[in-house]
This record gives sequence, C-alpha cells and structure tokens, in this order.
Amino acid sequence: MNISHHFDDATLMAYSAGSLPQGMALLVACHLHWCEHCRERVDATNAVGGVLLDDIEPVSLGEGALNDLLARLDEPEQELAKPVSRQPASAAGQLPAPLADLVGCDIDELPWKRLGYGVRQVDLDLDGPGATRLLRISPGVSVPHHTHTGNELTLILSGSYNDEVGRFCRGDVADLDGEMEHQPLVDTDEDCICLIATDAPLKFTGLFGRLVQPFIGL
Ligand SMILES: [Zn+2]
Repeated sequence: MNISHHFDDATLMAYSAGSLPQGMALLVACHLHWCEHCRERVDATNAVGGVLLDDIEPVSLGEGALNDLLARLDEPEQELAKPVSRQPASAAGQLPAPLADLVGCDIDELPWKRLGYGVRQVDLDLDGPGATRLLRISPGVSVPHHTHTGNELTLILSGSYNDEVGRFCRGDVADLDGEMEHQPLVDTDEDCICLIATDAPLKFTGLFGRLVQPFIGL
C-alpha cells in the first residue's frame, strides 16, 4: 500500500495519551494497522512520554483537585481501540483488522443508508463526543463544502478522492481541524469508502450544504 497522507503529531500524541474519543482512536488504530511509518512515530512518542513521566515531581493536591480526581476515578474507563493485530487482510477483505473486528461482516453486507444523491452511510454508533461513520460516495460525486467546529479524521478504505489538500487513496488519512474548509470529489470510477470520525458536528458553508444538513445530519 502506498500511503502518502499521515496524522499530525498532535493526533498521534493524543492517541498515545489515550485522550482521543473512541471513534478517533479506532480510526488511528486502523491507519496504524496499515502504516509502518506512523507505528514507528507512535513508538517514538510513547518512549518520549515514558521519559517525561519519569521526570515528573510529585505534587501535593489541594482538596478541590483531589475531589476532581476521585470523581474521575468513578467514571467508567474509556475503551480504547489499540492496534491488536498487524496481520494483513481481515475477514472483511478490504477492512483493517480493528474495524473488521468491530463490524463483523463484509463491507457490502453493512446496513448502508442513503443520505442523498450518490452518498450512503453507516453510523457506527460509538460512545463519546462527535460521530463515527462509514461513508460511501459514488464516482463523480462531491460532498458539499464544509468546515469543522472540531477536528475530523478521515481514513480512505477504498477508492480515492481529491480536495483542496490533495489526492487521497486507500490507507491515506486526512487530519483536519476547524480552520479547514474542503469539498472532496470522488475522482475515479470506483466508490470511495471512508471511515470518518469527528469530535464535533460538521458545519456546511455553501447554500446547498446548509439546505441539506438537516436531512443528512453529517
Ligand atoms: Zn501513517
């Protein structure tokens, strides 16, 4: 696999620290399954994090901080998707193992729902802020112009698209923050299937986007 778009350092650090929402952690695990370059970057980040932890001096906690800590200990632990397996090819054929394990069937057997012309989705219904979905976009179709109120991670599972940032193919990730406005266009005769995880809802900017947003709920 020829991967040319990777995560920002900040995303990989948040992943290593376990602070990403569940869907984003799953998406990072899926890319890591395919991308040796990013696996090495995560290993390096973990090594640096370990050294920093060793250097931290113990501090005394005020009563407020202690109560905060106790409250957090009561919260259920967030389940993080870690790259458990580095085997190529999952049961689902096209899917990276962490995602194949989650959906448990072939990509064509998923309950795809039409969102509008040439766009179908499966909401993975994971916990946490934002949304995690699979999007399947037909050739020649472009997703309306949108910006993000938070961060959006996209992993291309098959097919490809073009946008203001570049061309994205199987294995590539788009790591976008709230500043970025883009309009992906599927540029081959094959459906583009992506895994998309956000930590806040998307904001459509064009007139068409604003009109369709209430219906497609992206
Ligand atoms: Zn990578």
